[in-house]
Amino acid sequence: MLDVHQLHDAFAARFGAPPQLVVRAPGRVNLIGEHTDYNEGFVLPIAIDRATFIAARARLDRTVRVYSVQFSADDAFSLDQIERNPHQPWSNYVRGVAKGILARDLPLAGADLLIDSEVPPGAGLSSSAALEVAVAYALQLLNRLDLLGEELALLAQGAEQSFVGMQCGIMDQFMAALGRAGHALLLDCRDLSYRPIPVSPQARVVVCDSGVRHSLVGSEYNERRAACEEAVRLLRARLPRIAALRDVAPAQLEANADLLPPVILRRARHVVTEIERTLAAAAALEHGDLPRFGALMDASHASLRDDYQVSTPELDTLVEIARSLPGCYGSRLTGGGFGGSTVSLVAEGSVERFAADLVAGYHKRLGREAHVLICTPSEGARLVATF
Ligand code: ADP
Ligand code: MG
Repeated sequence: MLDVHQLHDAFAARFGAPPQLVVRAPGRVNLIGEHTDYNEGFVLPIAIDRATFIAARARLDRTVRVYSVQFSADDAFSLDQIERNPHQPWSNYVRGVAKGILARDLPLAGADLLIDSEVPPGAGLSSSAALEVAVAYALQLLNRLDLLGEELALLAQGAEQSFVGMQCGIMDQFMAALGRAGHALLLDCRDLSYRPIPVSPQARVVVCDSGVRHSLVGSEYNERRAACEEAVRLLRARLPRIAALRDVAPAQLEANADLLPPVILRRARHVVTEIERTLAAAAALEHGDLPRFGALMDASHASLRDDYQVSTPELDTLVEIARSLPGCYGSRLTGGGFGGSTVSLVAEGSVERFAADLVAGYHKRLGREAHVLICTPSEGARLVATF
């Protein structure tokens, strides 16, 4: 990852003029509340201290040129005709954001954009939302659009849904836009209201990338979403007023289990119990009850593995090793699943040892390399420099 001066110079070398500004938008890790966002439930993520940076300059014409340092790839398109680029899928996140701004009838000039990132793609840290929100934030600054906070998040989410074709919830973009330093956010995905909850400095958040990526992520994700919608549709036979699984209590689900095919029932069971766990975990964090918080993380993983069936043997192994190590309060897969990362809550004094032992244990058990990030809750999108 280049520093700000290197970004400036790399931009100038590529585009022939210096950037006007550099912005950053962070990745995120969800502490608990997985696959609840698109069910209008609760999530409890932190924005992390790893971000996607964009150096940007407005153009006088209607062209957007974009270069990704990570991908060593460039692309260009006209604002007058924004189409999907099947050859450079990464560019669609940028195109989708530009299209979303134009769809809001806001004035948008062309731009040159250079992307660099500390957020590894596909690791469950939402590099895609960091990218979308960083692009949206840069474009809104260049064009003085005053598109901030929640609006920025919704724009970015819309870009990923309609242009990339991933029916993602709002959590990732919300955190990239609105994360708060030192805090997790208990976010109500139904109305986007949220409550910042301080993360005790005695606890550290450790993300561990299993190094495994599955290409099925998108289709499996969309299939889980469809299963949840199907559950709501079937449950309405007796619960006509429910709008989403958010409206179904675990006891209600069990009382109406006969309405659902077995697989749909398991999917719904994960969601309704996970929403309860998330609220309980937020209360535990607020009261500084870290052991209780950790136990809820463990239960979340079991539910994701057994009922939602989005875990992998690698993630299960990482979680198992983590829990056996001193100082670990709890551990679970985080993000959509099917590879990616686990998140563990670890006592401050044990965290370095924990990280080393987790990587060593994983290598010993599976012969694979894991990558650990010790994360600090950080702030959402912001301007880093102007030139
Ligand atoms: P996640 O959001 O969990 O990291 P996704 O599959 O949703 O995984 O998004 C990853 C995609 O986002 C990448 O395949 C790429 O298309 C795009 N992306 C992420 N970071 C960058 C980057 N630095 N440069 C260009 N594209 C990126
Ligand atoms: Mg993503």
